[in-house]
Amino acid sequence: MKVLFASSEVFPFSKTGGLADVSGALPLALSKLNVEISVITPLYKCVKDRFSMEDPNITFDIPISSKTEKATLKKLTYKNVPIFFVENDNYFYRDGLYTDGNRDYQDNAERFIFFSKAITEFAISNNFDIVHLNDWQTALTSVFLKKVYEWNGKIVLTIHNLGYQGIFWAYDMHLTNLSWEYFNPNLLEFWGNINFLKGGIYTADAITTVSPRYAEEILNEEFGFGLDGVLRDVKHKIHGILNGIDYEEWSPETDKFIIKNFDYNTVTEAKKECKKDLLNSYGLGEDIKKPAFGIISRMVIQKGWDIIIQSLENLLEDDIYIVALGSGEKEYEEKLKELQEKYKNKLGVKIGYDNGLAHKIEAGADFFIMPSKYEPCGLNQMISFKYGTIPIINPVGGLYDTVVDIDDRKNGNGIRMKNYSTDELINSIRRAQRLFKNPLELSRIRKKIMKLDYSWTSSAMKYLELYRRLLENEF
Ligand code: ADP
Repeated sequence: MKVLFASSEVFPFSKTGGLADVSGALPLALSKLNVEISVITPLYKCVKDRFSMEDPNITFDIPISSKTEKATLKKLTYKNVPIFFVENDNYFYRDGLYTDGNRDYQDNAERFIFFSKAITEFAISNNFDIVHLNDWQTALTSVFLKKVYEWNGKIVLTIHNLGYQGIFWAYDMHLTNLSWEYFNPNLLEFWGNINFLKGGIYTADAITTVSPRYAEEILNEEFGFGLDGVLRDVKHKIHGILNGIDYEEWSPETDKFIIKNFDYNTVTEAKKECKKDLLNSYGLGEDIKKPAFGIISRMVIQKGWDIIIQSLENLLEDDIYIVALGSGEKEYEEKLKELQEKYKNKLGVKIGYDNGLAHKIEAGADFFIMPSKYEPCGLNQMISFKYGTIPIINPVGGLYDTVVDIDDRKNGNGIRMKNYSTDELINSIRRAQRLFKNPLELSRIRKKIMKLDYSWTSSAMKYLELYRRLLENEF
């Protein structure tokens, strides 16, 4: 079975969020199941400047409106998986993947139409059986392959986050070179705009979401971002498959970013060292008797930043540390910096992207705060398990599927908020503080959650099963 996996970010080459983690790990897990898989992704500046590549001598002429742009493929093999990078410096040789640090690039429609056309050309010229697309940046490939080329392979489209759909004004339609007949409500048109993801949803053979719960939630208005009606139309082809964690990247036994490696036998003592190191990194001293709460997330409302900010002043009166890492909305970044000035000895804030520090937080924190408003899957709660760090979550999407409240002594592995509110977040963090005062119970839960297994193997087997059923025309 020949599969082409297309994604706009792939770890360790480029990353803004969980999509990169999935795109780095799932193809690898599938190749271990003997799927002949290739990955295709843009050649961004951050990749071109850091990695050397082979030149397989493949170039496509891509029509974009009335001009022609060159897509040159570069290649490297990463852990036995061939990765093809689409080079076009006009579009991709920039500092950010999607934004200039403040705003989305103005030509994002054109950049990802170009990328989707390059994927289309590569898929056709290489006889793939399955093209697996991810999110809006690649979704138009499905429209090109199915509607323009009447390609007879199968297409899987994974929705990692319905909050991002690739919506652009109708004047960009000419960049697709599709005729206006495609601009209709059953394909690309969405309230007078073009919606890339909608085109993909209508034309792909199967849609997957990154957790079973999210597959149900997106059918409702609350989580559907205006596409719930469309998704109900195609409900029969939606499948929820939980993401896994790449334990080669995220394991306290082998983690090279943390000061002391550990497993579930040594977690209690080693975590103290890791906690000291973490607090030092934030200039918070070395007093490990108070509980430390970690947050790593994009600073956007999806991740619960409105209630995090509202609860901080109240919580920081307690004897605790909170360390945060992320970037996003200026409003949240500024409020955090303001609070940090006021609570210098308790609140640590790092604005930006820092993979090493993310590892230190997972290892050194006692609890991980993740009160998402919606969460397609969420990786950090599962990473936290592995590091014996107890997650505090709002039970939506993948958080609902993976976190059981510790009140359930048998299966409990985290703290579940009862509803999405500032008060409930405060209550949940105070529950954690009470648990911290009970070292025996704390240690029992830590050891237990470290043994949970969310590796990619079982998820990859579910994707493989889906591919097989598609090729056998079972849907
Ligand atoms: P999303 O994809 O919605 O951002 P996920 O929980 O699925 O959220 O994945 C987020 C991934 O990105 C995790 O691996 C997390 O550790 C990482 N991450 C997020 N923000 C940062 C940051 N500022 N620095 C380092 N890693 C980050």
